[in-house]
Amino acid sequence: MEKLQNKIREEGVALSDSVLKVDKFLNHQIDPQLMHEMGKEFASKFEKEGITKIVTLESSGIAPAVMTGLILNVPVIFARKKKSLTLTEGLITSKVYSYTKQETNEVSVSNKFLSKEDNVLIIDDFLANGQAALALIDIVEKIEATVAGVGIVIEKAFQDGGAVLRTKGYRVESLARIQSLSDKKIEFVKEKEQV
Ligand code: 5GP
Repeated sequence: MEKLQNKIREEGVALSDSVLKVDKFLNHQIDPQLMHEMGKEFASKFEKEGITKIVTLESSGIAPAVMTGLILNVPVIFARKKKSLTLTEGLITSKVYSYTKQETNEVSVSNKFLSKEDNVLIIDDFLANGQAALALIDIVEKIEATVAGVGIVIEKAFQDGGAVLRTKGYRVESLARIQSLSDKKIEFVKEKEQV
């Protein structure tokens, strides 16, 4: 998605060879117009799949997921990273190991909001090693609902999450794919090499 690539070029900061900071439009301040464009893009990629729910992870997945839900006209559920005082019963949980933080956390969704009949689109902001997406897939599959695909805003193609998910047979659609952040330079996967 060209608009997103341009935004990443203009406002993204490579903090190291592997971490990209995009807090000017996605991870802290949010650009609603761009989120809307991204929602339209995800919606058009998955419009023929008969999606009934979108599942994302708080907090940075919520904005693109809500825009997609608005266009596909389906509810959006965000998995929580912290246990809520008001949400204690019927929680479906999964563990996420974060390589960047070197810690394991549980994420959870209430079983009230998903059922076997659901056909779920998973959306997240970044795909690195795939742990967050795999945890969301695990939650959906524990409920015996179907995973229709995974929509990612920024895939770091030099990390193995994309290959892990695609090898397992999941459809992964990324709006921007980054080839490298070496020397803190942001290089995108060339159009022809896009998956
Ligand atoms: P994974 O689970 O695929 O290894 O990592 C994905 C999760 O880690 C995303 O939900 C995102 O919050 C975070 N993440 C991974 N890499 C980056 C990065 O380069 N920049 C930012 N801002 N978040 C990242």
